[in-house]
Amino acid sequence: MYKFGKSILAILLIAGALQSKTTFAQNTSPILDHQVIHKFGELLSFEAVLAPDLDVEKVEVFFNSQGSANTQVESVEIREQNYVSLFYSLEEENPLRAFAPVRYRFVVTQTDGEKLESEDFEFFYEDNRYRWEVLEEGPFRVHWYAGETDFGQDVLDVAQLGADTLQDTLDLPIPQELDIYVYSRASDLRQALDLSGKPWLAGHANPDLGIVLVSVIPGPEQSLEMEREVPHEVAHAMLYEKVGDNYANIPAWLNEGIASLAELYPNPDYQQTLVDAADSGELVPLADLCQDFPDDTLSAGLAYAQSNSFVRYISRTYGPAGLDRLVDAYSNGASCEEGTNIALGQPLSAIERTWSSSAINANPGLGAFGQLLPWLIIAVVPIGLSLGFTALRARQKEA
Ligand SMILES: [Zn+2]
Repeated sequence: MYKFGKSILAILLIAGALQSKTTFAQNTSPILDHQVIHKFGELLSFEAVLAPDLDVEKVEVFFNSQGSANTQVESVEIREQNYVSLFYSLEEENPLRAFAPVRYRFVVTQTDGEKLESEDFEFFYEDNRYRWEVLEEGPFRVHWYAGETDFGQDVLDVAQLGADTLQDTLDLPIPQELDIYVYSRASDLRQALDLSGKPWLAGHANPDLGIVLVSVIPGPEQSLEMEREVPHEVAHAMLYEKVGDNYANIPAWLNEGIASLAELYPNPDYQQTLVDAADSGELVPLADLCQDFPDDTLSAGLAYAQSNSFVRYISRTYGPAGLDRLVDAYSNGASCEEGTNIALGQPLSAIERTWSSSAINANPGLGAFGQLLPWLIIAVVPIGLSLGFTALRARQKEA
């Protein structure tokens, strides 16, 4: 068997490459043998041994990530005898989708113009900057690099509990397999996804790939982060499992609102953010949250808070069946405004008006209720202080 150039492998090792996914294959003409190595976000190398007796003019490699229509075509250098290689830098511009299978094939053009194609091969473009531990239970497989085995088990338990919690409200199927990658720093996750423009992002779902990514920072807040983020991302995967490729037609406010229903420890800032925005007349029209959420942290926080509150309102008002009909309407192609009309009998803007006035009325610091506050304090405080405090806590938890 042909020995691949030691110098090339040495370069990768010197560069600090971790164990990469490597594919060796024996196949028919025009490739006798080959391997592909990647160093995540830095380098991709293809090496191949051509079949003998070819009159080669050029060799090219075609590759593209699953879910991407953009196929790269790169010339492969003929180095010695029938050995060819390509070193492709991923640092400047990376066409690969993180955590996606990448399909590739070699095409040899002979001097008489005849083209010979290899079969299609595949490698998994995993983030191999880390040594992932793996633990599996039921449909969930968790990958993590910071923490002991009990950390991985906690993630599995929280994923299952979050899925069960969501199913109490909405009948969404759990995917048969779901890989959960846990970063210990949100910045590492954003870097992996090339999403540095969203500084608030701490989790992400690639549901068409059966993969979710979360960041859980080790420390005292660890379990709260885990209980919020893992179920949230699992919920996105469950929604995709139900609607498939129509996932893209689910409005962002509904998708994120449903995901927030699964959170075992909802974001404690949601309620205050919502109250402040309602108080200052800065609620964002839901029609502006159909496609995507804003990039800046404050606006994104408000978008999540509104989506959470609005979807909870729909669930309370129309019941699980109403929420279910709403998902169906959007997955069947309804527009953002019309989906609620089809499923709930009212356009989005009408339900939004009722929701926002109900949300404001639900908060005693606002509106006419606030003007009565001095009198209420005199009347209520002596007998109801602990009761009121409990009610306030309950409202905050509900967010
Ligand atoms: Zn989300």
